[in-house]
Amino acid sequence: MSQTKTKGKAVSITAIKGMNDILPGTVETWQFLEQKAREVFGTYGFAEIRTPAVEKTELFCRSIGETTDIVEKEMYTFNDKSGNSLTLRPEGTAPVTRSFIQNRLHTLDPVSKLYYMGPMFRYERPQKGRYRQFHQIGAEVIGVEDAKIDAQVLAMLHHYACEIGIDAVELQVNSLGCPECRPGYRKALIGYLEKRLDALCAECQRRYTTNPLRVLDCKATGCKEATVDAPSVLDHLCSGCEIHFGQVKKHLQALAIPFSVNDRMVRGLDYYVRTTFELVTDQLGSQNAVAAGGRYDGLVESLGGPALPGIGFAIGLERLVLMKGKDQVVATRPDLFLAALGEDAAEQAFVLMSKLQRSGVRAEMDYQGKSLKAQMRRANKLNARFTLILGEEELRNGSAELKDMDQSSQCQVALDGLEQELLSRL
Ligand code: ATP
Ligand code: MG
Repeated sequence: MSQTKTKGKAVSITAIKGMNDILPGTVETWQFLEQKAREVFGTYGFAEIRTPAVEKTELFCRSIGETTDIVEKEMYTFNDKSGNSLTLRPEGTAPVTRSFIQNRLHTLDPVSKLYYMGPMFRYERPQKGRYRQFHQIGAEVIGVEDAKIDAQVLAMLHHYACEIGIDAVELQVNSLGCPECRPGYRKALIGYLEKRLDALCAECQRRYTTNPLRVLDCKATGCKEATVDAPSVLDHLCSGCEIHFGQVKKHLQALAIPFSVNDRMVRGLDYYVRTTFELVTDQLGSQNAVAAGGRYDGLVESLGGPALPGIGFAIGLERLVLMKGKDQVVATRPDLFLAALGEDAAEQAFVLMSKLQRSGVRAEMDYQGKSLKAQMRRANKLNARFTLILGEEELRNGSAELKDMDQSSQCQVALDGLEQELLSRL
């Protein structure tokens, strides 16, 4: 392959716009958030599921909905070499549901509690908190209709937010009704919007008949103002949906989970019915949803599976990391830095370091033949807990100087029992 060159220097290749590297120094925060999710979700009986990053395009069209933002304009869709239309997953619920059906998970357990984490892809305008490759941690429960499970899922999300130290969030809940009562609401809303079409943005003028609920979610000032007294979905619920929503609220109160009702929260995916919710913050500008989810009772069946209800949520990891901000998780410090003087000492330090690493001691050394001073600087920079100074002289005596970097104290230690000595001090 030819290489592009300018003035003899190869042009460097950058990452794709909206797709970010996660570098050491930040990745520790990611690991912390992922680890906490595993712990908390595990407590509630959730098991991890991993699905491919690519699925047949049809899966998303049929589940998320043809007239949604995601399917209309945000999907990374391409034909593979056999001409199959494939899509990089824009979300996790449809793939998990596909896998649930394909693997007949309902035959193993009447209730499936699953969680996932990984990259999602949407062709959006990149900005703070909005990227083209982003990461979600999500959870799904398939098989329970009872409102206790809605409250349980919300309690778990709340528990997770507390556990990771994100408290500037508010839980908002709503009910979007079901196929029985939603059409009535939709009609009422279209009737209302019809009289205010001029005030709506071009996009809402187009979608007010195809997806009128989305107008309530539009960020344009005109649309916001024109819909302040729009009919409320909560006034149009059928009795089944009303009872269910009442129970969700009652259970949340019983669990002392703080929440507010937001009847304008519509969510952007067609499969949602009844309970929907968002965890919102005022710390991230217009990207204010940190997590979102809801019930999807007809989804499993519509994708060819058994008629089982479902509910779940997805948390946006980038937004959590932004919220954690300066309060980042610090990188794990090395236990020991081996500073060696001279080639023989460096060779011995290398063997000793490898041995210590095998026993689980985080050990580091210099590979560039630097001066003792430079090595000590590096030990400091790495924030090593201890430094072991190995000179030719010390080697001959089978001992070395162990420096406690926190206490600024030092002592002679025998190289023989070094491992035990270190482990006892750590
Ligand atoms: P938004 O209203 O911000 O576009 P959404 O309704 O499209 O969000 P969902 O599909 O419900 O979001 O995804 C759940 C969560 O995933 C969001 O609350 C958010 O934290 C995160 N998320 C969604 N899209 C992106 C993106 N492009 N970049 C970063 N995070 C995202
Ligand atoms: Mg979106």
